[in-house]
Amino acid sequence: MKTYQMFLNGQFSKRGVLRDIVQPYNNKPFAKVYFGEEDIISEAIDGAEKAFQKMKSTPAHVISDILRKVSEKLKERSEEFANILALEAGKPIKTARGEVGRAVHTLMLGAEECLRITGEVIPMDQKPYGEDRFGMVKRFPLGVVGAITPFNFPLNLVAHKLAPALAAKNTVVLKPASQTPISSLMLAELFMEAGLSAGALQVIPAKGSAGEVLARDPKVKMLTFTGSPVVGWHLKKLAFRKKVALELGGNAGVIVHEDTDIDPAVEAIANAAFLYSGQSCISVQRVFIHQSIYRKVVDGLAKKAESYKLGDPIEENTDIGSMISEDEAKRVESWVEEAVNEGAKVLTGGKREGSIYYPTIIGNTKAEMKVNCLEVFAPVITVTPYLDFETAVKAVDNSKYGLQAGVFTKDINRIRYAFENIEVGGIIIGDVPTYRIDHMPYGGVKESGNAREGVRYAIEEMTEPRLMVMKFSK
Ligand code: NAD
Repeated sequence: MKTYQMFLNGQFSKRGVLRDIVQPYNNKPFAKVYFGEEDIISEAIDGAEKAFQKMKSTPAHVISDILRKVSEKLKERSEEFANILALEAGKPIKTARGEVGRAVHTLMLGAEECLRITGEVIPMDQKPYGEDRFGMVKRFPLGVVGAITPFNFPLNLVAHKLAPALAAKNTVVLKPASQTPISSLMLAELFMEAGLSAGALQVIPAKGSAGEVLARDPKVKMLTFTGSPVVGWHLKKLAFRKKVALELGGNAGVIVHEDTDIDPAVEAIANAAFLYSGQSCISVQRVFIHQSIYRKVVDGLAKKAESYKLGDPIEENTDIGSMISEDEAKRVESWVEEAVNEGAKVLTGGKREGSIYYPTIIGNTKAEMKVNCLEVFAPVITVTPYLDFETAVKAVDNSKYGLQAGVFTKDINRIRYAFENIEVGGIIIGDVPTYRIDHMPYGGVKESGNAREGVRYAIEEMTEPRLMVMKFSK
């Protein structure tokens, strides 16, 4: 069984304790990883603070070359990384390859955006007391950035922290998800080979609560967290003196209006709801369908839900693997049972085998049921008919979350109405809320978060504007 070491102060290190990493599909250990505790994370923070002295004066072209090399090396080793994602995250190999491709892009964006961090010239002479002065703003790195990432995209979401943080000349202490630390350790190896200076990146696998050091330690100037709302908002309280960027969950809604082309909408919604067992922060959860096409859309979704091949994520023809753990699958099972007890009807699925939960469609639900009002994070959707578009918009907006929403309609006035009345970070027209390309501004409002990623946007969050005013003699 292969053993992976933590990446501390520029070296792979056998510190901490060895822990088994299991395949979520069958709960079998397949690798061992050295896990740290709070003390080792603190050591990593000290190392990153020291490394910042060098990093902050490293020329942009040097950092850009490193990020480009890492992106290229990752592309060369795509298959190896995809295999690890399939094993550690239970992600079907086809989907895992997609994630690696996206991480290649994200890192390349870092290499490019690194060269384009610009500032601003302030027109000072708006008032007499601004005459003979020149004002400019330049963006400066913050220092040590603490990064905490979730299990569901263990590579690309790590890239979304490292690429902008390093491009902006910060140093980073990363605590990857405890279930999925291997891909980020392999990525650290690529950074080392590409010549990143020692200590500029630290990757310390650790259990969740050990990550609180990153929120508490004043040497960490910013915490960037992707994960569940409950953990994210808790960390924000602990980190009240520093910048905190939260990328959290949601219960994404989609509207299917009567003027849309049904077949492509059904195909897109089913894939966005069920593939990777719905374990994406923007996977489709609540589907609102115009009454006149309700039957046709629901029948299409059920047919598609029943067509997927469930099984071992490492097998080439598997569409849907397991959930991240049997406990998670049991949680979903109990939510569906609870909904049924309160009057909902399972239209297909509603079955669990170990850590696999079957693609499930539920009708007759109420907005207050957990399957609607909380983040289900599983291959489960609710379907609800509506009569007028405004009601559907209100229903999608009726959520404590606000990450992305999708609207299938061709009517420009309805598009505008939805854009203006659904409070989310992004609205996707003619497609599912699950659409993301890695350079677009991405993030949520309400309980879904408070920041934007998408390399250029994250660089804004990870830098501080510094003003210089110069006075000239007359
Ligand atoms: P999680 O909140 O359980 O864990 C996320 C990370 O936080 C992990 O590294 C975990 O070890 C760590 N953690 C847990 N408790 C902690 C604590 N007390 N202090 C410090 N760190 C702690 O989330 P998860 O189950 O790994 O991921 C799923 C969640 O992530 C879902 O809610 C999903 O919507 C969200 N997510 C959001 C985005 C986004 O970009 N908005 C992307 C992917 C996932």
